[in-house]
Amino acid sequence: MQVTRKELIELVELVRVTTSEEIDCSQFLERAAAYVDKTDPDEVPDDFVDVLQHMLVCKECCEELHVLRALVSSRADECDECDEHEHEH
Ligand SMILES: [Zn+2]
Repeated sequence: MQVTRKELIELVELVRVTTSEEIDCSQFLERAAAYVDKTDPDEVPDDFVDVLQHMLVCKECCEELHVLRALVSSRADECDECDEHEHEH
């Protein structure tokens, strides 16, 4: 599913009503690796709502997650480049 930032905020607001649990930065980082590993950027599983919630309140962790995401996708890009080099030589 496609999730806009507005929908994300609405989702988090919804969850905030039902749960008082909020994760801190170290918990976020523990979960962030799993989040990046398991999910699509456009997909938000209910399990990771606490991760998303922290992203909205903590700019540093939000950036951290984007770095992780970039690392994951740059690995994929590298593979594509290797294929191209094989063709060239
Ligand atoms: Zn944080």
